[in-house]
Amino acid sequence: MNTQVEEKVTIKAVYDTELNSLLEKLEMMEDMKNGKIKCSFCDCTLIFDNFGGIFNENGYLKPFCQKTECYIEVLMRKNALK
Ligand SMILES: [Zn+2]
Repeated sequence: MNTQVEEKVTIKAVYDTELNSLLEKLEMMEDMKNGKIKCSFCDCTLIFDNFGGIFNENGYLKPFCQKTECYIEVLMRKNALK
């Protein structure tokens, strides 16, 4: 139980420090603020609090949320590309 909570906090802390510059670089910052970015897998609207990361598939950048299902989806696709 405790381990899971700590893991989540760590993941979030990492993204908070790098998320802003990453979004600026990809010119996604405005879209994010306006609620225009959606998770590539579950289609929920991405905000800073549920942003999981950005996944590169065949040169396309696909943002995804923090839901476990979406992380698993990313991991499965990454393995498939190898
Ligand atoms: Zn999702």
